[in-house]
Amino acid sequence: MPRVTCSVGLTVALLAACHLPSHRTDRTAAAVVHRPNVVVFFVDDLGWQDLSEPFHTERTPNNDRYETPNVERLCREGTKLRHAYAHPVCTPSRVSLMTGMAAARHRVTHWTLRQDRWTDPERHGLLRPHWRRCGLSNDPATPDAVCSETLAQRLARIGYRTILVGKAHFGAIGTPGADPTNLGFDVNVAGHAAGAPASYLAKNGFRRRRDDTVWAVPGLEFYHGSDRFLTDVLTDEALAAADAAVSAGKPFFLYLAHYAVHTPLDPDERFVGDYRARGLSEPEARYAALVRGVDDSLGRVLDWLDQRQLADDTIVVFTSDNGGLSAHGRGGAKHTHNAPLKSGKGSAYEGGVRVPFAIRWPEHIAADRVCDLPVQLEDLMPTLCDLVGAAPNVPDGHSFARKLLGKPQLPHPLFFHSPHYWGAEGPGIEPFSAVRDGDLKLIWFYDGGRAELYDVVRDVGERHDLAGERPAEVTRLRRILREHLAATDAQFPSRKDGRSITRP
Ligand code: CA
Repeated sequence: MPRVTCSVGLTVALLAACHLPSHRTDRTAAAVVHRPNVVVFFVDDLGWQDLSEPFHTERTPNNDRYETPNVERLCREGTKLRHAYAHPVCTPSRVSLMTGMAAARHRVTHWTLRQDRWTDPERHGLLRPHWRRCGLSNDPATPDAVCSETLAQRLARIGYRTILVGKAHFGAIGTPGADPTNLGFDVNVAGHAAGAPASYLAKNGFRRRRDDTVWAVPGLEFYHGSDRFLTDVLTDEALAAADAAVSAGKPFFLYLAHYAVHTPLDPDERFVGDYRARGLSEPEARYAALVRGVDDSLGRVLDWLDQRQLADDTIVVFTSDNGGLSAHGRGGAKHTHNAPLKSGKGSAYEGGVRVPFAIRWPEHIAADRVCDLPVQLEDLMPTLCDLVGAAPNVPDGHSFARKLLGKPQLPHPLFFHSPHYWGAEGPGIEPFSAVRDGDLKLIWFYDGGRAELYDVVRDVGERHDLAGERPAEVTRLRRILREHLAATDAQFPSRKDGRSITRP
């Protein structure tokens, strides 16, 4: 397909390219802007180590436990980012991905569910800030919600069919953001306020009880009573919706956000027997089967793109919304499942926030390449906008399109702001803000007002706190973090006894 590249990623297909698929060419115009399809394949709670593809500099035992041949294929055919980050829990990551805003700015700093109840416990004499527990909204009048243009809205505005299949978890029950069609999605299959499925099993109707209105996965009645598994059903639905967009002659933005691999660890009978046979404990066998199911889904998407001859014309992103669960619900010792990373979901440490990330766009983004530029989820919206030729401007995220396209790009600091305790407890699971700048990461814990400093390149497991040895770096990074928190008008915990907390 002949193209003229006009600017970063903006691809113009000339009318002369008459062998373009006819549904994508405006034959009445001298030239039309040709935009690639976009697939964001978003896994829930998938850890950095939960893959047979290594995202570390060396293979680890987890890379041999899990089987993800399709992620391996995506990395062979695209670029693998080994220093990609999310936020420690679901909703902050999803709102940052969808708006390009830093967590400190959007203030949806913890997971959402109900308008009138906090999901973050208060502990150790610290009081929560009044964060935006209603999540993301399209209506500025929604109380306790943030309103900002979404990636889906921006892509819809330039002609994309925008499709959400799977977990939404953007806004609280009864608020506009609970319905993805209010946030720029033309199609919503199975997305609502809740951030976990009651059940992955169609034979249970994807619910625990008949009257379950909170956690039951909505809208998949066609499959109820069958022996299908949710991950596979969502893949059917995603491909059907993408097929409809192709038939309508529209580029599509498919946000396939699996409920997997979040709890409950229901058995995916297609795969779980393999892992039981290898001697994994029942929860670990089920977890590995959930991972395998997600990889199978990715394979079905890649095969479908091949069958429709759309692979060259589609950007595929694979990533996760936070670190792997390790503080409860798993087999084996707690806080070890993301080794060599420390801790897991909910934590300030790498196990809580570091996620796998791969992106493929044949002929544009290099195949079989490793990229070590540190990036985070709020960078994805400006990057994708850059690549498809939409305005990349967002409140906080930085486009890394230049880097993906093989051009030089300087790193930027990454910021985290999670002023909350979580339900489960463990290393680093407490109110914090953090900055990663270059190889260094400074974590500021609000309980007691203390800094930890790590070189996360040479010490990926954060075993050696450098704060005492490198006070000048602590001072410098505290200043950078302080300036970010001021610029974004961040909220902070306070103390029950009225004493002031120490900020970075
Ligand atoms: Ca999650």
